[in-house]
Amino acid sequence: MTDETRIAVPATAKAGTHCDLAGYEALYAQSMENPDGFWRDQIGRLDWVKTPTVMGNWSYDPVDIKWFEDGVLNASTQCLDRHLATRGDQTAIIWEADSPDAPSRTLTYRELHGEVCRMANVLKGMGVTKGDRVTIYMPMIPEAATAMLACARVGAVHSVVFGGFSPDAISGRIQDADCRFVITADAGARGGRPVPLKVNVDKALESCPGVTGVLVVRHDGKPVAMADGRDVWWHEARETVPAHCAPEPMGAEDPLFILYTSGSTGKPKGVLHTTGGYMLWANLTFHYVFDYREGEIHWCTADVGWVTGHSYIVYGPLSQGATTLMFEGIPNYPDVSRFWQVIEKHKVNIFYTAPTALRALMREGEAPVKKHDRSSLRLLGSVGEPINPEAWLWYWRTVGDEKLPIIDTWWQTETGGVLISSLPGAIDMKPGSATKPFFGVCPELVDAEGQFIEGPASGNLVLTRSWPGQMRTVYGDHERFVQTYFSTYKGMYFTGDGARRDEDGYWWITGRVDDVINVSGHRLGTAEIESALVAHPDVAEAAVVAVPHDIKGQGIYAYVTPNMGVEATEDMVKELKFCVREHISPIATPDFIHLTPALPKTRSGKIMRRILRKIAENDTSNLGDISTLADPSVVQALIEGRKNR
Ligand code: ATP
Ligand code: MG
Repeated sequence: MTDETRIAVPATAKAGTHCDLAGYEALYAQSMENPDGFWRDQIGRLDWVKTPTVMGNWSYDPVDIKWFEDGVLNASTQCLDRHLATRGDQTAIIWEADSPDAPSRTLTYRELHGEVCRMANVLKGMGVTKGDRVTIYMPMIPEAATAMLACARVGAVHSVVFGGFSPDAISGRIQDADCRFVITADAGARGGRPVPLKVNVDKALESCPGVTGVLVVRHDGKPVAMADGRDVWWHEARETVPAHCAPEPMGAEDPLFILYTSGSTGKPKGVLHTTGGYMLWANLTFHYVFDYREGEIHWCTADVGWVTGHSYIVYGPLSQGATTLMFEGIPNYPDVSRFWQVIEKHKVNIFYTAPTALRALMREGEAPVKKHDRSSLRLLGSVGEPINPEAWLWYWRTVGDEKLPIIDTWWQTETGGVLISSLPGAIDMKPGSATKPFFGVCPELVDAEGQFIEGPASGNLVLTRSWPGQMRTVYGDHERFVQTYFSTYKGMYFTGDGARRDEDGYWWITGRVDDVINVSGHRLGTAEIESALVAHPDVAEAAVVAVPHDIKGQGIYAYVTPNMGVEATEDMVKELKFCVREHISPIATPDFIHLTPALPKTRSGKIMRRILRKIAENDTSNLGDISTLADPSVVQALIEGRKNR
């Protein structure tokens, strides 16, 4: 894919947009030249108990970040109370079950408000007070959102742990955040299989004696053990409390939540977000990046256990009064057309998913997509990894019929919300590029010494200015926060990602900096080589890592997953090498191609390159923390495959 492949803003995206190109340029310029004025214009997007007088007050050296510090508000009020007068009877949440045969559920804003207040009262009754940390370990059901908002209501700090994690991963996170309370459910369902949530919590709590209360939502309905004096059924407790609860007034810099990063690169970090800045960022980005229009149905397929679910299932959409869809299931159950069937059923307008899901669905061809009516769709989005141009074009052609804007949103758990993305009504798209920075975001490229690189170039992606949604610390380890993000390049936030800026000032994320490969002095982004491999019609997915090489310094080791039904042959390996040579350059030709039916992925679907690197190097003695892997058996198969080379 060349930089010249440029797709103009579709007519469907121009009509009724909140922001055209002139609007984007004017607001972006204001956010850079007069940040104080820009944020003063934006703070009215939230309902404050006390409107802040101070906007940004931050420094990256020494590190001290505050936004709206004298403001007072409550996050749950933004998502509930302020909608009651105008849209109390509008649907806030649509829930779609794992099985298409199970009935879906809806909750209006008024109903959700009542549920949140009741749960807040129950939590108070269990002894939860302002500042307490509460672990939420839930399936994708409306009560997960209720639990988050109930914590916010009473000023407790939630720590959502993805419902697919093991007891060990739960207890580690409970201990790290020193939680005394857990909210969970009896069991969930994914792909037709039960997920034993309560059993996992019980096991986890064997090593967490500090936990004094567990609130259990009945979802699956099968019997579970309940510990006397510790465990409380939600459906029983909710009958005993009133459906109103005054929101706790919170300082803008009071913590709203802790969330552990997905763990692709090492031990998960407890990323801490605060109330005012995070809420404004979630709300503002939802408004502009998704170009949300009144009455639309928004579906983000992430789990609430990831930041994407926090910002774009719960806080962004609900603070804007949108209808947000929560889906308990997975893309390929009962078959691979499930996503498109849900879109048809609920007339989804905005669809936001991850490249990993798109690549998996792409393998199945277009028939499962085309058989469903997708005419309700207005916008398609992607997040989580670089989206290969091949997958982007499939999304554009097959799902969007070449009419719908695609937003490729680059951001991190640490950033709270989107930082680089096209605005659908304003910015021309380039397949594979996240395009332009959002308001207030100032990306730069630096070299290894931290010197700025100007013009079209590749380098390390840093941010030189703070934005309200930025994380404030690593929970319990501020030094790790400073070390991880602000010590590589003094006075800048280092993202850990590499990027390229092209002649039009468009941003291309080239992958994590650790994944840059230096072949005979040429720096190659793994994302680019992977895209060349995935462009082959028989390839579903690829992951490229560096291996030590006597002559070149580093060599290229490529793991490649062929499409369903394609045989792994030596000819295919030859063809793939040829593909990369043609697409990029002979320098980028992989030294090894390892054909494999599966790649190791985190629970959020990201490829764990750290492990692939070890296997490629034949150093499997210490693979590090693999507790966040979706399917650990993949690792053994890869090690065997490596031995047979
Ligand atoms: P950990 O920090 O624990 O290793 P993680 O980085 O996978 O885990 P997240 O915060 O979920 O945790 O992911 C953020 C990272 O995902 C980004 O730094 C980037 O590498 C990648 N990413 C997210 N969205 C995009 C995108 N649109 N394009 C390219 N890369 C993306
Ligand atoms: Mg990260």
